[in-house]
Amino acid sequence: MTKSGSAVKVLFVTTELAPFSKVGGLGDVAGSLPKALRQAGVDVRVVTPAWPGVLESVAASGLKTTTVKTKVYAAYDWRIHSATVIKADVKGVPTYFLKAEDYTGDMYPSQLNFWTASPFAVFCMQALELKDAIEWEPDIYHCHDWTSAFLPCALAWHRHYRQTSGKSIMTLHNVAYQGIFEPSPFLEASGLEPWSFSSSTMEFYGQVNLLKGGIVAATAVSTVSPTYAGEIQTYESTRELSGILYQQRSKLRGILNGLDTKFWDPNGDKAIPAKFSPKDLKGKAACKRALLERAGFDPDTDAPVIVCVSRLVEQKGFDMVFNAAHQIAETGAKLLILGSGNDWIENGIIQAAEANPQSIKLFKGYDEPLSHLMYAGGDIFLMPSVFEPCGLSQMISMRYGTVPVVREVGGLRDTVFDVDRPEGGNGFTFQTCDVDGMMWALRRAVERYRDKAAWKKIMLEGMREDFTWDKSAGLYKDMYEDLMQ
Ligand code: ADP
Repeated sequence: MTKSGSAVKVLFVTTELAPFSKVGGLGDVAGSLPKALRQAGVDVRVVTPAWPGVLESVAASGLKTTTVKTKVYAAYDWRIHSATVIKADVKGVPTYFLKAEDYTGDMYPSQLNFWTASPFAVFCMQALELKDAIEWEPDIYHCHDWTSAFLPCALAWHRHYRQTSGKSIMTLHNVAYQGIFEPSPFLEASGLEPWSFSSSTMEFYGQVNLLKGGIVAATAVSTVSPTYAGEIQTYESTRELSGILYQQRSKLRGILNGLDTKFWDPNGDKAIPAKFSPKDLKGKAACKRALLERAGFDPDTDAPVIVCVSRLVEQKGFDMVFNAAHQIAETGAKLLILGSGNDWIENGIIQAAEANPQSIKLFKGYDEPLSHLMYAGGDIFLMPSVFEPCGLSQMISMRYGTVPVVREVGGLRDTVFDVDRPEGGNGFTFQTCDVDGMMWALRRAVERYRDKAAWKKIMLEGMREDFTWDKSAGLYKDMYEDLMQ
């Protein structure tokens, strides 16, 4: 509630929105948290760019869209950037897709510079302009990651938007991506005051750092798990940015992500060949068979199937996986990996699969339906992350009765608890970030899998965890209301 007793008005400003546009966890969060917030009594709406294919995907999902009468305009780089506003009700959440020339390229650029960063600054300004077009003025702009971090900067330091009312929240889904590029000609083109570029604002070793600017300028900052909130204040985790995060710690909170448990539900998932639930696990065996067939392995094997669904980047620890390929094969387990990313990691896995063709299979690419089959058909979910802000995959895997083996870091530490603790748990964890550490946990999992009764108990423990947004939506609501005091 605001002081006047009305619901807090929050505009979610996000460059990803599942199921229409998604690269990773941010897309999932933006696609599920707003619905939970509305149920908790927050007047939340969403704005997102209509990247190529997004409006087609909205139409294909059967949603009705309307075009808002007034366009939004933003002045940037001595040009007016206009966007058509297309509205749809997504799961009961008023959602605005901005269709503009600025969003016709790739979602995220591989190289960041003034030109490739510009669509993200333009998007933030158009989000600030939206209130007039839709006649609804947010109390709070809730921004996510560097791609919308320009918005708090604009509210604090832009010649024009400094007069706009509204508070801002910066949620950090992954501090590894900061939006760093050359200051010229950005500073002149963006309309930010010259003093926005100093070591206490967005300047970072001579470069622009949009995330740093967003953290400093935002009224409040949150990140996606309590453990990560602590880790990012240390040099080991975020290097040069840790000082700023430590300095800003009084406005930082860690709120664990939830899942869209209707979407990720083995008892209603249309992408898997058989349904199952904690009460009746039979369908999981059919999913395992289908997955093994898809991988070209014997579908009748009783070997444990280890699955990974991930971006193949340094963060996720896959160098440990391919370096341990022989040891994994020797356990008798099958290892199936779905993902794509850095060449050197993909190549490492390809070589591991070529050397162990009976045990290891890589499905290269991004494949949403196959990811569901992986979660449903696997026995063990391996996630040996070097760092992990929250991680959704380990929660999804637990929903599908696939027992996680994870490194004790970030959100993995807040969601996966080792079964060998005196109080029991829902998975297997390790601390040391190397092959020996990972294999210690993985071997325990593979051995335990042979004890069917013990394994079923661990599966059920994970399947019965509460991964809904209910609790965390309440914590976000508290944060909004604290800002309105
Ligand atoms: P991150 O956001 O760091 O990528 P998360 O675990 O928070 O990691 O979220 C990853 C999300 O992306 C999950 O929903 C996961 O299923 C999905 N995902 C990752 N890689 C793939 C892939 N190759 N194909 C399909 N879905 C994927």
